[in-house]
Amino acid sequence: MIKKILVANRGEIAVRIVRACKELGIKSVAIYTDADRHALHVKKADQAFNIGSDPVLGYLNAHNIVNLAVASGCDALHPGYGFLSENPLLAEICARRGVKFIGPSPEVIRQMGDKIEARRAMIKAGIPVVPGSDHNLESVEEARELANRIGYPVMLKATNGGGGRGIRRCDSEAELLKNYERVVSEASKAFGKPEVFLEKCVITPKHIEVQVIGDSHGNTVHLYERDCSIQRRNQKLIEIAPSPQLTEAQREYIGKLAVRAAKSVGYVNAGTVEFLLDADNQFYFMEMNTRLQVEHTITEQITGIDIVQEQIRIADGLPLQYKQEDIRHRGFAMEFRINAEDPKNGFLPSFGRVTRYYAPGGPGVRTDAAMYTGYVIPPYFDSMCAKLTVWNLGWENVIERGRRALDDMVVYGVKTTIPYYQEILKNPEFRSGRFNTGFVEAHPELTEYSVKPPPELVAATISAAIAAHLGM
Ligand code: ADP
Ligand code: ADP
Ligand code: MG
Repeated sequence: MIKKILVANRGEIAVRIVRACKELGIKSVAIYTDADRHALHVKKADQAFNIGSDPVLGYLNAHNIVNLAVASGCDALHPGYGFLSENPLLAEICARRGVKFIGPSPEVIRQMGDKIEARRAMIKAGIPVVPGSDHNLESVEEARELANRIGYPVMLKATNGGGGRGIRRCDSEAELLKNYERVVSEASKAFGKPEVFLEKCVITPKHIEVQVIGDSHGNTVHLYERDCSIQRRNQKLIEIAPSPQLTEAQREYIGKLAVRAAKSVGYVNAGTVEFLLDADNQFYFMEMNTRLQVEHTITEQITGIDIVQEQIRIADGLPLQYKQEDIRHRGFAMEFRINAEDPKNGFLPSFGRVTRYYAPGGPGVRTDAAMYTGYVIPPYFDSMCAKLTVWNLGWENVIERGRRALDDMVVYGVKTTIPYYQEILKNPEFRSGRFNTGFVEAHPELTEYSVKPPPELVAATISAAIAAHLGM
């Protein structure tokens, strides 16, 4: 039985994993770099180890982290999301060193992390995919030929991409020619791999994803879907479970499809199958995330299932405690990613000291945060500093609960996306429950004074924050 877990992550997700450990009577070990010595996950875990002076590199050093897991007597490791969570090497090293990796096998991580491989596997399993490449593009000429065949607009995508980066829409051949080298270079920089591919751009799609869980005894279930259509630059801002845009028949269909997808690759542990739903109500497989997701909280709120605890039990070799028909969903849950960014200034990152923090409470309100009053948000990481999840029985009620909880929440000292979410919740289109991934772009009035900051200003803001942080 797992007795001690190394949490190979930081921020709110590390705190989330520590909380699951506590409820299961499992000891937890945190890791941190110098920049994170005052971080909340360090305070919450049973033990914490410094993994280096560089703010980021320590979290990316799989060998060191697994060494530390072994040395500190951990029998398992949870990778969280981001960082090494989708790096098959980490899972491999864990296996070699006798540390249980809380996630799927290295083979499945590798296969699904490569979007071309994933598309191939899904086609084989009879899952509809967006028309596009069946291998990595070798040249811009090949891209042009394929784009002409499938028709514009097309999406150029990094084969190993994630986090919404390395994706560009091309509406014409001229745009394709202009973007090709850009996406290749973005892919090389962000993911260390230059491979890109092309697929048809689905017009005004809804992003619908399904949470799946499989155990090592061949049982696979889904925990219903999440609607993540509210995005900015292909990154999710607000997520909703279940989707207010699906019929019961669609819900059943997509759940089954996701289970089929997971089973076809022998998926074990928690994962997410992402689909696009087009205007003609056709679902297309987009990608599979082989890890815990940021927005897993909304699924927990509607099903009552603690996904992180399930992940740990599955890694321990235990069978699922329920069948598909035992899993019910109740009401609606909505998550707001509270980012330290200024929505009135083109979402410019806003790091620094949180002079006052108050977590909202009351019925149906859950906060997963990585901050406290006095905490200094370091400038080296993602700008998400908290997640607010609300639950209520009906669609209108969950919106009202969201408004109340966002109003209740206090974050002073840094700018956040809270006021922006308040505007979205007032918007009639959002309230009608009918929206697609174009919503944010279609409503610039919700950030009325927003001007896009020039890249130099973004760079200067981050450098100034880093200088200030180093001077502390
Ligand atoms: P989710 O669907 O869980 O929201 P995201 O794609 O938004 O997942 O990513 C979650 C986190 O992981 C973000 O901090 C994002 O920047 C990071 N991330 C995701 N994929 C990658 C990747 N391939 N390389 C580096 N960071 C990634
Ligand atoms: P990531 O790995 O970065 O999460 P995804 O492939 O999941 O990348 O795409 C992220 C987002 O980009 C989607 O949620 C969607 O909004 C948009 N997107 C991706 N592919 C397409 C497509 N073919 N057509 C339309 N939108 C797309
Ligand atoms: Mg995705």
